[in-house]
Amino acid sequence: MTTVALKDVTKVFQDGTIAVDTINLDVNDGEFMVLLGPSGCGKSTVLRMVAGLEDPTSGAVMLGGEVANDLPPRDRKIAMVFQDFALYPHMTVGDNIGFPLRLSGVEPGPRGERIQDVAGALGIGDVLARKPSQLSGGQRQRVAMGRAIVRRPGLFLMDEPLSNLDSGLRAELRAEISGLTRELGVTTIYVTHDQAEALTMADRVAIMRKGVLQDVGTPTQVYGRPATLYVAAFLGSPRMNLLEASVYVHLDRYVALNLGEQALYLPWDDIRSRAVAHYHGERIVVGMRAEALTPVAPDTPGDVLHGRIRYLEHHGHESLAFLDIGATAIVVDEMGTPVERAAPGQRSLRRFGQVMQRLTGRAGES
Ligand code: ATP
Repeated sequence: MTTVALKDVTKVFQDGTIAVDTINLDVNDGEFMVLLGPSGCGKSTVLRMVAGLEDPTSGAVMLGGEVANDLPPRDRKIAMVFQDFALYPHMTVGDNIGFPLRLSGVEPGPRGERIQDVAGALGIGDVLARKPSQLSGGQRQRVAMGRAIVRRPGLFLMDEPLSNLDSGLRAELRAEISGLTRELGVTTIYVTHDQAEALTMADRVAIMRKGVLQDVGTPTQVYGRPATLYVAAFLGSPRMNLLEASVYVHLDRYVALNLGEQALYLPWDDIRSRAVAHYHGERIVVGMRAEALTPVAPDTPGDVLHGRIRYLEHHGHESLAFLDIGATAIVVDEMGTPVERAAPGQRSLRRFGQVMQRLTGRAGES
């Protein structure tokens, strides 16, 4: 059973860089946890502290409920996979996979069987006699995975393992990796800056920014109920619309969100009214995802935004309309709407859908 817990973990490098700032995070047994954030936010440093390759400046790294700060890396029952694969070029695929077993003194017979099992599971059973240079990028990554799982680790640590591969292969391998780790029931911490990878693979996602943990939750939670404005803007493509508004409650009748040149009127019994009513008289930020906005007729009353389309972007399965609504530009998912109706320059109206409107904080917060 491998759980990981970070308790107030901070890492300050010798030059004064605060790479990780007072992080608290629990990873459950068998869970697939993804650390997500932009380059330099401290993801790899967290991973390296869990692996024992870096010492925390303060705080505790706990493995299986025990403080592991002083436990050498080799005693942590951890396997790591990096983006550069780091295979031994002079060894065959079979020997690469079997290398950790050889190091720990496993006899050739059982070693060979275990290599066959692992290679079979990864679909590389027919290339065991080749050298790494004779493999494709995807096959090399599978060998690196094979070498990591061959000793049945209690914990997998993966640092951007797919970032050197082309996008088709990445999509294929991310399904394979998450399938395999779940099959094996191995606790996994996976580092990436790719949100598609994070949202598709994770049981839970931990989002970092400048060494600070911003949000932790299932992909649905962090996407639908982001804890901070940063997470709201960071997750999702196109970016979530974030509009500043003043809140005015007209008791028992409606809530007005004043956006400057126009206002939105939410019926009193609307769930969104209750979510914002206690901000009466304050300025807040309203988050709206493109897919939560739908076109309506120009004279529709109530929670309607009026905008002028600046341009359209067609993506095959969907089209995006970029609108000016007064001073603010806004993006609207045009799925299902005849494109002719939304030609550039035309005045257009969009209604807030029911899917996702949420106040993510006060104006100016991040
Ligand atoms: P990337 O996705 O680019 O790998 P990351 O989120 O994994 O980024 P880290 O590699 O953990 O980020 O780095 C976090 C911060 O710590 C960065 O500002 C980095 O420059 C700094 N850093 C990392 N290693 C050291 C070191 N040995 N000495 C000083 N600063 C370091």
